[in-house]
Amino acid sequence: MSEKVVVVGGGLAGLSSAARLAKKGYQVQLLEKTPKLGGRAITIPLKGFNFNFGAHAIYGRDQSVLRKFESELGLKVDWKHFSPKKAFYDMGSFTTPMPSTLERLYRTKILDAENKVRFAYEIIKTLTSLERGQEDILIGDYLQDEPEQIRDLFLTLASSNFFSNEPEKIPSPLFFRYYKRLFAAQNPVAYIGGGWQSIVDGLAKILEDHGGEIVNKEKISKVEMDGRRVTAIHGKESVYTADRFIFCVPPKELVSMFEETPYQHLFEEYNRYRSNQVVVYDIGLKERITSPYTYIYHKEERVFITDISHYDQTCTPEGGQLLQAISYMNPEEMEQDKGKEKISSIESVYDKHYPGWRDLLVAKRLSKRATVQEIKCVEDQRLMPIQFYSLNNSYFAGDWCQGEGQLSELSFSSAYEVTQRILAHPDRK
Ligand SMILES: Cc1cc2nc3c(=O)[nH]c(=O)nc-3n(C[C@H](O)[C@H](O)[C@H](O)COP(=O)(O)OP(=O)(O)OC[C@H]3O[C@@H](n4cnc5c(N)ncnc54)[C@H](O)[C@@H]3O)c2cc1C
Repeated sequence: MSEKVVVVGGGLAGLSSAARLAKKGYQVQLLEKTPKLGGRAITIPLKGFNFNFGAHAIYGRDQSVLRKFESELGLKVDWKHFSPKKAFYDMGSFTTPMPSTLERLYRTKILDAENKVRFAYEIIKTLTSLERGQEDILIGDYLQDEPEQIRDLFLTLASSNFFSNEPEKIPSPLFFRYYKRLFAAQNPVAYIGGGWQSIVDGLAKILEDHGGEIVNKEKISKVEMDGRRVTAIHGKESVYTADRFIFCVPPKELVSMFEETPYQHLFEEYNRYRSNQVVVYDIGLKERITSPYTYIYHKEERVFITDISHYDQTCTPEGGQLLQAISYMNPEEMEQDKGKEKISSIESVYDKHYPGWRDLLVAKRLSKRATVQEIKCVEDQRLMPIQFYSLNNSYFAGDWCQGEGQLSELSFSSAYEVTQRILAHPDRK
């Protein structure tokens, strides 16, 4: 009989690992505590609009692990390429092209002529690994001796790719690894037609078509162990046994599930780390407001707006427009609960670039504290391993785990690596 694997958590990491193992012939059960699959990649329908959490932007598409799932599993991904010509920076007194191509680098006003050449050289150094950062130095310090314009541009880029208000605290090696991958991609950013929902539905279908079972509304509260092996996990009323377990739930859930075992401490460190939180304010309009932008980043307010409906027409009723604004929060702002102020700053950016939006508003979705990434990659915060030596048959995946890239790429890449290890090594009981 085939090996049985139980996957806990039905977000992108849980779904992709469950679908891959089912397709490879494993007997798979996926347990999710909420009534809907998707976790943070959830789509909420409201008055004819489909509000996704996030712009479902995949960074570094060519090298994205989602492409491996696409080709191996036959997952359908409707890639919508980002239009660099419509991406701008709002610098307060002027708006200027984001330097996302050579032609845009030539036209942008955020760098003078000398720094444009220097920036192009920095890209080449990053691509050829001449520039790799230094293990013990944060990127803000590492770039200290660069001309101010170059330092500022690098940190502005990192702010929008890492969704962070404190880009200077990113470790410099991580920074250069990330940009090497991004600069090497032919399509550095792509959106997904049909939003996250299309990926969630696609993975769930692959899982079920290959005999996998999905159990919703099943919160796992504790694990049972025999030595270093998990033997069973407990839901509300049921107990699930398996040969191996993949836990795709954040560290705080793991601390609670492993409470009665000698292994709880393994997860405590990761539970203490800060997450990356933002304010999200999406608006659904009954008509489109013509604008030269599909992406605009307001530097001072640290707000970016994406015209999601430009890329994904399935998210609005006919003729409508769906705009998404995200505002980054730093730890002090989170502590002082500055959500309300962020909302008025987002509205002022909407007013500036989409005048008349208030009269066309049909639906909106507001989240004052959305967790973009469970562990923020700053300073000494470390991502959690996908396996521990002291736990034999348990694996871990999610955007709090070690992997490639940032955001959902961490969920997909950790899920891929976990399934790779299961496939490569037969279970040793
Ligand atoms: C506003 C916003 C914008 C974003 N934009 C982007 C973007 O543009 N591009 C990008 O790549 N990423 C983006 N992201 C990040 C992306 O959404 C996440 O990285 C990804 O969805 C995380 O998936 P996951 O499976 O790792 O974790 P989660 O989605 O957190 O999944 C964990 C799952 O486990 C379930 N669970 C928890 N506890 C239990 C339990 N005890 N028992 C059973 N089930 C349990 C939860 O209900 C959940 O379904 C964004 C996120 C946000 C919030």
